Amino acid sequence: MGPMIKGFRGMSLVDFPGRLAAVVFFGGCNFRCPFCYNVDLVLPQRLSQLEDIPSERIIEELKARENFISGVVITGGEPTLQKNLLRVLLEEIRSETSLAIKLDTNGSQPGVIESLLEENLLDYVALDFKTSPSRYPELKGHFQPLEETLSVLRTSQIPFEIRITAVPYFISQRELEELIPYFDGACLVALQRFMNEYDRLAPEMELGLYGPEELKELASFLKEKISPPVELRNV
Ligand code: SF4
Repeated sequence: MGPMIKGFRGMSLVDFPGRLAAVVFFGGCNFRCPFCYNVDLVLPQRLSQLEDIPSERIIEELKARENFISGVVITGGEPTLQKNLLRVLLEEIRSETSLAIKLDTNGSQPGVIESLLEENLLDYVALDFKTSPSRYPELKGHFQPLEETLSVLRTSQIPFEIRITAVPYFISQRELEELIPYFDGACLVALQRFMNEYDRLAPEMELGLYGPEELKELASFLKEKISPPVELRNV
């Protein structure tokens, strides 16, 4: 795979808790979540239509904004699949800017996260829980690497959040119940409302939609059973 930085947004208020941040999008993903709305960043034939952005340009863009942003979010797709490009980019961000670095990940590459942490290249990680461990094969993934990612994050010095997009077909009390043992050590659990209004990987699938009340019920269910604080997003 060649260079695969496929998108850049100069400023976001919602992607890095407590910070104004730029967002860098990596192309490619090893999962196929039916509810994924980053279709262009996931499907190889769509991905090839997007222009590659050289990392030098990302660094220039970040430096140009350094006076009014304080963070950069690396997201995708799944950035950890391109570990060399990712490491080089993060090293450059560290040496050329003073921005805090957040990584969004599906958790499938614990070794990559471990080595980035060893090099002190991450300040915050958001790890997605997409459904119960036993249903990960429906996303063409497996939960076991996430368990390793969690243990790597727990022994690190940086805060990490667990992010759950509440897609009714994949997240109900039953799935949350199965996830209960895995929340320890997170600084925050973000339960976010699923917005069923974009292009999707599986547009033909009925994924459902929770209203604010149902989402609050799920949040109270979680709050009773886990120690990290639960925050609702997009409600
Ligand atoms: S892991 Fe994320 S980017 Fe990959 S298919 Fe799932 S939702 Fe899309």
